[in-house]
Amino acid sequence: MTRSKRSFEPLEPNKVKMYACGPTVYGDPHIGNFRSFISADLLRRWLEYRGYDVTMIMNVTDIDDKTIRDSAKAGEPIKEFTQRYTRSFLRGLDALNILRATANPRATEYIPQMITFIQALIDKGAAYFAEDGVYFDIDKYPGYGRLSGMDLTQTQATKRMTKDEYDKESAQDFALWKKSTPEELKRSKSEPGLAWDSPWGKGRPGWHIECSVMTRDLLGETLDIHAGGEDLVFPHHTNEIAQSETITGKQFVRYWVHIRHLMINGKKMSKSLGNYISFDEVLAKYSADAFRYFYLGTHYRRPLDYTDDAMKSAEGSSKRLENTLDLLEAAPKAPDTNLDLSPGERKLLDEVERHRAAFETALDDDLDSHTALDSLHAMSGAINEYLAKSPNKGVTLKAYRIYRELLDTLGLFEKRGSSTNKLTEDLIRTLIDLRNQYRREKNYKSADDVRNRLTALGVTLADNAEGTTWKIEKK
Ligand SMILES: [Zn+2]
Repeated sequence: MTRSKRSFEPLEPNKVKMYACGPTVYGDPHIGNFRSFISADLLRRWLEYRGYDVTMIMNVTDIDDKTIRDSAKAGEPIKEFTQRYTRSFLRGLDALNILRATANPRATEYIPQMITFIQALIDKGAAYFAEDGVYFDIDKYPGYGRLSGMDLTQTQATKRMTKDEYDKESAQDFALWKKSTPEELKRSKSEPGLAWDSPWGKGRPGWHIECSVMTRDLLGETLDIHAGGEDLVFPHHTNEIAQSETITGKQFVRYWVHIRHLMINGKKMSKSLGNYISFDEVLAKYSADAFRYFYLGTHYRRPLDYTDDAMKSAEGSSKRLENTLDLLEAAPKAPDTNLDLSPGERKLLDEVERHRAAFETALDDDLDSHTALDSLHAMSGAINEYLAKSPNKGVTLKAYRIYRELLDTLGLFEKRGSSTNKLTEDLIRTLIDLRNQYRREKNYKSADDVRNRLTALGVTLADNAEGTTWKIEKK
């Protein structure tokens, strides 16, 4: 909002209420989406490292112009369509080691609250009913457009915008509630999750109202941090502010964090340019840690270009960091009982502490992950050199703990050394598919048998709206 770095002070001491705009689930996630998810994940991890108790919400938009349009194109009921892509989004989060949010609310779970919110805006005189829906009157919110630094004298005040997404040049009254089209009404007879009854006729919410309602319900009237991709500044976040502040009369967000777009070979990624790269394509070629490293290697507000060279370089750099972790894990360690450190041992501990301090300073400064990684490489080099001599077990343990802790704040190499690898995951997934096939065939005995045998191995299954998920219980 101020276009400057500010000291972070949450509303309540030590507590952070954070919201990040999640995906619109109308296709498989692409690698551009994940720049903003990884950055939000890093922010959350760093705040937790600094001792904050973070509540983080990331929504899922499962009703809007695009989900309606593309589910029709796919000839699939909207609910199944969006659930499929919600699963695909969650799989992407897990693959990249992004911590799950405290909650991932779906827009369609909040329709009654949205209707109440819209009615309150009408009661305040900030919204009005038109023939095709309910609109927010942007003239009624002083300061409209401040977040995006726009010049309101250029707007066409008399017009209304029906679409969810549009440019600054077409800033107009925006839709809060859209009456269903005849086609949508027809589809809604057989498709739940497409149209709802409201005081303004059968319809569905506009995109922007979704976040205003879910943030208020789950986090309260004022958020500490609201994050999202830079493309959301206008109209989405601009409209969220207008709606929320009109209702509460309070500041909606204390700190905005916007993440720069990912480019592909110097161009903006888009389906029409044919340079669209899917998440699975990247993971087929590079490790998830290399991919995470690639995003973290550049500060979130700086330009980042996806190229094969950049990915190869990220793979090499992350391997170097991982190699040090391998060496530390293999080295004999013991609690330090010897207080008489040799000059070499003292030197290593001093260096580790110095690099940790630099790492912390970098991330404290607006999440400078690029510089933080430099400190980690410096630490890695010092540790490698030390381990090549005859290391002291206690000193090695100290260095290991610090190194591992810093890697954890970046979410790197977390899946190592666990009992899971790609083949294990595929085998578990195959058994789950088999069990679900038995269930569809109503062969519940065999289905239960598969489940029980997995449970006996420590793999527990959970059935939910997105299908069956699993986890390995730690013994
Ligand atoms: Zn949003």
